[in-house]
Amino acid sequence: MTRIVYVNGDYLPETEAKVSIFDRGFLMADGVYEVTTVIDGKLIDFDGHFTRLERSLNELDIANPMDRDAWLDVHRELVAQNGIELGMVYLQVTRGAPGDRDFIFPDPETTTPTVVLFTQSNAALVESPKAKKGIKVVTIDDLRWGRRDIKTVQLLYPSMGKMMALKQGADDAWMVQDGAITEGTSNNAYIIKDGKIVTRALSNDILHGITRAAVLRFAREAQMQVEERNFTVEEAKSADEAFVTSASTFVMPVVAIDGADLGSGTPGPLATRLREIYLEESRKAAI
Ligand code: PLP
Repeated sequence: MTRIVYVNGDYLPETEAKVSIFDRGFLMADGVYEVTTVIDGKLIDFDGHFTRLERSLNELDIANPMDRDAWLDVHRELVAQNGIELGMVYLQVTRGAPGDRDFIFPDPETTTPTVVLFTQSNAALVESPKAKKGIKVVTIDDLRWGRRDIKTVQLLYPSMGKMMALKQGADDAWMVQDGAITEGTSNNAYIIKDGKIVTRALSNDILHGITRAAVLRFAREAQMQVEERNFTVEEAKSADEAFVTSASTFVMPVVAIDGADLGSGTPGPLATRLREIYLEESRKAAI
């Protein structure tokens, strides 16, 4: 089946979809994105992703091309047209294609944002073999820009970080700034010590994860202790458990950091429980 994608108002086979070579997303990474997970053909935390999209666009002075209900319609239409049961919807909005390449932002009256959405199917999304074994991470310097709270399409360093991890036989990298972990290359990072969940507080240093917000809410509702503060690499290595969160991996246990096993080197009980709670609650609230 040919995938149907959405480009600037049209639903098209992916082979017919086109974006200008002058698009500022292509030339300057001048754009933002969101990834919304689909379970049982329904969208997980759509409103969280929509709200963050609005914020990202606002921070970059790009007008939001659609209201909430129009965005929801496009998401649902793509899920239906592509028969997605388990997978995700990717959306990207760029500042558009003004014609000439210029550092100065084009006039929004004459250059409208480019909107692209597509789906990806993933049968192993929920029953993930990685979640059963846990993942290994290595630490690397956080060399990204200073506005990591905006979900931009500048993903080169995170991509390099994943490659550095793979070369060391690990699955992912945790990034470090001034001795403290900021976050994973495409996820938020947590450690657990003596029953307390610790994760970096929200600021411009990290992406304000939609899954993070949900998981911390569920953890507090389940009477788990949560501390939002910086934690060091040393603290992480001596933690009882660790995990990461993202829309596409939910709660993913981390079993080793820089080659040192955490606890028994298998997914810890709290991370495992949080994954179950997250999946159960998110399924119930999916739209
Ligand atoms: N941190 C970074 C750097 C990310 O790229 C992502 C997701 O792409 C996250 C955290 C997790 O965010 P969310 O839970 O909204 O998927």
